[in-house]
Amino acid sequence: MKMFGKTTKLLVATAMLAGLSTASLAKDKVYKWKLATTWGPTLSPFIDAPKNMARLVKEMSNGRLIIRVDASNKHKAAFGILDMVKGGQYDMGHSASYYWKGKDINLLPFTSMPFGMTAPEQYAWFYYGEGMDLMQKAYSKHKVLSFPGGNTGNQMGGWFRKEITSVDDLKGLKMRIPGFAGEIMAKLGLTVTNIAPGELYTSLERGTIDALEWVGPGMDIKMGFHKVAPYYYTGWHEPASELQFLVNKKKFNKLPADLQQILKTAIRVSAYDMYIQNYQMSAKAWSKMVKEYPNIKIKTFPKSVMTAMKKANKDLLVEKTQGKPLLKEILDSQAAFQKKAREWTKMSDYLYLKDNL
Ligand code: CA
Repeated sequence: MKMFGKTTKLLVATAMLAGLSTASLAKDKVYKWKLATTWGPTLSPFIDAPKNMARLVKEMSNGRLIIRVDASNKHKAAFGILDMVKGGQYDMGHSASYYWKGKDINLLPFTSMPFGMTAPEQYAWFYYGEGMDLMQKAYSKHKVLSFPGGNTGNQMGGWFRKEITSVDDLKGLKMRIPGFAGEIMAKLGLTVTNIAPGELYTSLERGTIDALEWVGPGMDIKMGFHKVAPYYYTGWHEPASELQFLVNKKKFNKLPADLQQILKTAIRVSAYDMYIQNYQMSAKAWSKMVKEYPNIKIKTFPKSVMTAMKKANKDLLVEKTQGKPLLKEILDSQAAFQKKAREWTKMSDYLYLKDNL
């Protein structure tokens, strides 16, 4: 009995030690991750979202999760983010979902849809509607988790060399415009392409393209597009472009629960922060644009062009969802949410602004 008692005690002590050391090991273990972005090292506010996220994670985890942010000049694959996170070369990514429409069209709607939801409507869809579940469903075949990563708000319609007075003026133009809007422009007779952010100005200046859309005054002015293409059109195509944080699912599942929660919290905070940072940048740039850049001509597409865009959008929504049940499910969910939310937007923000401009 005595021996048995001793052995038992020893076993218990060993188990306790083992348990303690496992717990303390888990507590002290430092996870070192890498994140790849589509953005260049100084492209504010896009690059600030992953940088803020990494800083918050480091501080909140007391240094247990360290995330290195690699800008596009480091990995040289601005549009390879999904592949690199999927393949495990990077643990995380920061980019825009619609850049992979050629690879997987189901991922397209999570950035923004032409004539779609505004930023508050879309955030409500993501976090209190079906958005997050549908996004994980669409990304699951890539073994990647996806989270909203910062919103641009309503984007400007782009920079053109010449005034657009009719649909005929658009025909034959070469334009950089990604996402579903690119499909619409192609249907209207433009040659559509996507170009990495770092090559936009050169492409426009050299005439590789005739027109482009980027984001809004806060980000556009610094790029210098107005020097080449002074007609600046108001938006219709990206009312609420959301960037995405991607996380390799296997790597995420290996994190202890507290670090998973810290990561998700930092992602959500930095996404919101990018939204308001971009709003501030655009408000500031807009207020001085008229004075400092008198050559810029602010325009809205004529009614005939808007009508043609809306018709093309409607037709394409039918065409593109043929035989694609998941894409249809996502777009239907967005449309249903937008319909309900828009009634409230009209009663609240719209009527308030209409009477107070
Ligand atoms: Ca854009």
